[in-house]
Amino acid sequence: MPYRTIIEPFKIHSVQHIDMPAAEDREAALQRAGYNLFGLHADEVIIDLLTDSGTGSMSAAQWGAMMIGDESYAGSRSYERLRGVVEGLTGMPEVIPTHQGRASERILFSIVAQPGMVVPNNTHFDTTRANVEFQGAEARDLVIAEGRDPSADHPFKGNMDIGALRETISEVGKDRIPLVMVTVTNNSGGGQPVSLENLREVRAVCDEYDIPFYLDACRFAENAWFIKTREDGYSEHSPRQIAQEMFALADGITFSAKKDGLANIGGLLVMRDAEVAAQCRNLLILTEGFPTYGGLAGRDLEAIAVGLDEVLEEGYLQYRIRSTEYLAEKCRDAGVPIVWPAGGHAVYLDAKELLPQIPQSEYPAQSLAVELYRDGGVRGVEIGSVMFGTVHEDGTEDPAQMELVRLAIPRRTYTQSHVDYVAEVVLSVAARASSLTGYRIVEQASWLRHFTARFAPIAG
Ligand SMILES: *Cc1c(COP(=O)(O)O)cnc(C)c1O
Repeated sequence: MPYRTIIEPFKIHSVQHIDMPAAEDREAALQRAGYNLFGLHADEVIIDLLTDSGTGSMSAAQWGAMMIGDESYAGSRSYERLRGVVEGLTGMPEVIPTHQGRASERILFSIVAQPGMVVPNNTHFDTTRANVEFQGAEARDLVIAEGRDPSADHPFKGNMDIGALRETISEVGKDRIPLVMVTVTNNSGGGQPVSLENLREVRAVCDEYDIPFYLDACRFAENAWFIKTREDGYSEHSPRQIAQEMFALADGITFSAKKDGLANIGGLLVMRDAEVAAQCRNLLILTEGFPTYGGLAGRDLEAIAVGLDEVLEEGYLQYRIRSTEYLAEKCRDAGVPIVWPAGGHAVYLDAKELLPQIPQSEYPAQSLAVELYRDGGVRGVEIGSVMFGTVHEDGTEDPAQMELVRLAIPRRTYTQSHVDYVAEVVLSVAARASSLTGYRIVEQASWLRHFTARFAPIAG
C-alpha cells in the first residue's frame, strides 16, 4: 500500500478561538511575566504545549454522557458505570474515584508508607515523589541506564533496572518496602514506555519477597500501544488486551484521568486488597468525599468511563503516538537535539546540546523555552536547572542532570498544521541558537520555584 498520512481520526464539532498576539505583544507579555512562561495568560499563547494534563478535547460521546450524569450523593448510577468499566479493564474490584492522580497518591501513601521506608519506582513523577517524601519515606528511582541518557536508542527506556531493584530490597529489607511502583509511561523519564517482559520481571521479584506491586498508570494506553508496536509477540493483540495483561500483573494502580482518561479532571485509586481499600475509603471521606463520587461530580465519572473506552481505540492510539513522533522526526531530521526515541505524550528538546554557549548556571532550557514563545507564541516548559537544580543555603546551586524543554501534546486538540507550525518555530529558533543568551533569577520562592520565579536576560 502506498504511504498515506495518518490523519486525525475525528472531525471537529466545536472550536475554540486562538488569539494571535503580535511579536510586540509577546515581548510585552514576557516582560510582565518576568520571563516565566507560567505567568502568561492563556490568551497570550498561540500553541500551548505546557502540559497534556487535563488539556485534551472530549468527544461528543463524552459530552453526551455528561448530560446523563447521576448526581446522587451515595450510590450514583454514574459511579456504578465507571466501576464496571474500570473493573473490566483492570480486573480489580476496589475502585475509588478521586479528584485527580495526586489525591490517589496522597491517600495510598498515607496508608502504606512510614518514615524510614523506601518506595522503588522506575522514575517517580514529581507529585508521587512529594507524597512519598511527605510520609517521611524515601522515593528511589531505578530506571535502566538507557533511560537516563537522552540519545540512547532503546525501545523501552522506561524499564525498571531489575538488578537495582533486587539490590534495593536486600539493602533495606522487604519489610521497609511498602510497595514497588512502575510508572507507565515514564513521564519524568521522557514519556518512555515499559515492556510487558519488564513488568513480568518486576512481578516475579515482588512475588519472591511478598511485596505489593502498583502501577502509576496515567498513560497506560499509550504504553500499551508501544508494546503492540515494539514488543515481540504483541502486534496482533488489541490495546485493550495488552492493557489487561499489564493490569493483571499488578496489585493496584494510581491514575490521573486527566491523561489517558481523556477527561479534564479526575483520578482513580484501584486495587485488589479489600482491607487496604477500606482504609483508603475512610481517608477519602475525610478529604475527598463519599466513596461513590470521591470529589468529582457524577458527570465527571461519566466522562471518564467513556474516555477509558475511547483511549484504547486503535485509530486513536495510532494517531496519538504518530503525531508526537511526527514532531520529533521533524526536529531530529533538521539536526535539533532531542530525547530519542520520542515519548508518547511529548517531545523533549535538549537545550544543553543546542545551546553549549550558555552555562547551566544561566539556565539554557529556560532561554530556549522563552525563545520559542518569543518567536512563535509556542509555550513549552523548562525541565532543567530551574525546576530541578539544588539551591544551597549560601545561594550556590547544583545544576540538574539534563536541560530539557518539554513540548507536551494535548490529546485530540491540535491538528497536523498546528504541529507543522510548532516545528517551524523550533527550527527557526534552532537556526539562530548560537545568538541566544542565558538568564539569571531575580526573584524566587524557597520551593517549587519554577512556578513563580522572575528572570532577567543576561546581555550577550
Ligand atoms: C499527572 C501525573 C500524576 C499526577 O496526576 P494529577 O492528576 O496531576 O494529580 C502522577 N503520575 C504521573 C506519571 C503523572 O503524569
